Amino acid sequence: MKTPTTVVTGGAGFLGSHLCDRLLAEGHRVIALDNLITGNTDNIAHLAGHDRFKFIKHNVTEFIYLAEPVDYVFHFASPASPIDYLELPIQTLKVGSIGTMNALGLAKAKGARFLLASTSECYGDPLQHPQTESYWGNVNPIGPRGVYDEAKRFAEAMTMAYHRYHGVDTKIVRIFNTYGPRMRLRDGRVVPAFVGQALKGEPVTVFGDGSQTRSFCYCTDLIDGIYRLSQSDFHEPVNIGNPTEFTILEFAKLIQKIIGSTAPIVHKPLPQDDPKQRRPDITRAKTLLGWEPKVDLETGLRKTIEYFRGKV
Ligand code: UDP
Repeated sequence: MKTPTTVVTGGAGFLGSHLCDRLLAEGHRVIALDNLITGNTDNIAHLAGHDRFKFIKHNVTEFIYLAEPVDYVFHFASPASPIDYLELPIQTLKVGSIGTMNALGLAKAKGARFLLASTSECYGDPLQHPQTESYWGNVNPIGPRGVYDEAKRFAEAMTMAYHRYHGVDTKIVRIFNTYGPRMRLRDGRVVPAFVGQALKGEPVTVFGDGSQTRSFCYCTDLIDGIYRLSQSDFHEPVNIGNPTEFTILEFAKLIQKIIGSTAPIVHKPLPQDDPKQRRPDITRAKTLLGWEPKVDLETGLRKTIEYFRGKV
């Protein structure tokens, strides 16, 4: 069988780099594109010199030119934490809109399959629980998270348009909260924040009263679901995430218990439009892809903590 050539935008990011690892293990030739504003070459340093891996520093909001044939395009480039959207609002909007258009344009020109990394943020602060793919969401377009949510909603619309109008073979994954090694210690997301604080013996900062819920998927489980989706013939969005739901306060206590921190939990103001609850309905992924997460939270957290131990 011919070796597929696969482009991963955001390939030096947290999920993009894990995806590169999986694709290389599946025998692909991988070209990672990243402008490194939130990605980091440390995440792909172990791939330097790999004969099927190439990194190109490129901002995908600029035209993407590649001379060689391409079989798959995975569009993963985007700032992905609430703090990043606040610091990089225009870049977040541009990569979700213009970047998606360029990545789709590349897939169309090359006759490649396309997979969009979308998000549970499409559901906003959801009024339906758990969230099924048929739910249209409750998003504030002009709030601080709107730059990410609306860019990804636009990206989904653009992806479906390229599928329907140009016949591009597209897939859309809606990614729920994911964690694991290679997250940035200071990206502001709850896992690196709590783990970093607990490792340093500092108070853990719970926003609001901590009754808001999330469900956390370990990175390799998530990448497995995404890889399976890329091999399917399904074009509508598919939720990939872990359906085991925790309150943020429970989550803070669990991290402190695993690390053995006795520092206090302190409460900080809840950020604007912070979703009150979030849990994926994964019936579609189970039925279509035979996928469900395997790594339980404590096992995944222990691996993640080991990674962060070397970073604090
Ligand atoms: N959160 C928190 N303390 C922190 C960082 C986050 O209590 O130091 C909360 C945040 O308010 C949200 C949840 O943890 O309710 C998950 O936040 P994250 O930024 O990881 O991603 P989100 O799911 O909101 O996109």
